[in-house]
Amino acid sequence: MELKICHMYPDVLNLYGDGGNIRCLSQRLRWRGIEASLTRLPIGETAHLADFDLVFIGGGQDFEQQVLLEDLHRGKDREIRAAVEDGLTFLTICGGYQMLGSYYETHDGQRCDFIGALDLYTVGSQTRMIGNYKFRCGPASGGSLVVGFENHSGKTWLGPGVEPLGQVLAGFGNNGEDGSEGARYRNVFGTYSHGPLLPKNPELCDYILTTALRRKYGSCELAPLDDSAELAAHDEMCEKIHK
Ligand code: GLN
Repeated sequence: MELKICHMYPDVLNLYGDGGNIRCLSQRLRWRGIEASLTRLPIGETAHLADFDLVFIGGGQDFEQQVLLEDLHRGKDREIRAAVEDGLTFLTICGGYQMLGSYYETHDGQRCDFIGALDLYTVGSQTRMIGNYKFRCGPASGGSLVVGFENHSGKTWLGPGVEPLGQVLAGFGNNGEDGSEGARYRNVFGTYSHGPLLPKNPELCDYILTTALRRKYGSCELAPLDDSAELAAHDEMCEKIHK
């Protein structure tokens, strides 16, 4: 068995160690004897997303999101919309997550038209939503408790066609107002959680891997791992993050 992973925009969207999610996804596959191949897709390069099983997009500053817009609209946007509808698994973080929506309007009124793959939009605010936070994933995303770090000025609002990834327990989440965090649509996972997200949230990592393996091979049960170190880090953060 093998999963082909595409890391999109590793050159401009890789804030707060988001690239570490790729190492976590790959290592948790290899620990189970499943191959993980990685293709980096920077600005200027193209690939057929249908050739992959999982796509990862990290976070970036407003400026970096604007830098990649021209490249995005040269065809990657169409590829991403088609891959999302075809059930490809995506993990997208902060700026990479915002990019899946219809637009991002910066706090000084500049509007970036994004991909329109998910029914959501983002509006920049004067306040930065920053700090350690925690949220509980919805039942459709495994229901695990997730600890993470957020740093964004964008407030994301979900339309009727998208579910939240989870509900905020402490921190801001999508917008600091409606208690939602992230987004779920088909096999897309969007979240504001940097850090990287996955190493200290092994249950969510395995849930994401399982969606990609099931899509490719039908049924799939990942063998349990000794997650004592990961869960110790998770629990310590969970303790530190209070309402
Ligand atoms: N530039 C976007 C914002 O500030 C995304 C930031 C990020 O990816 N951390 O909301």
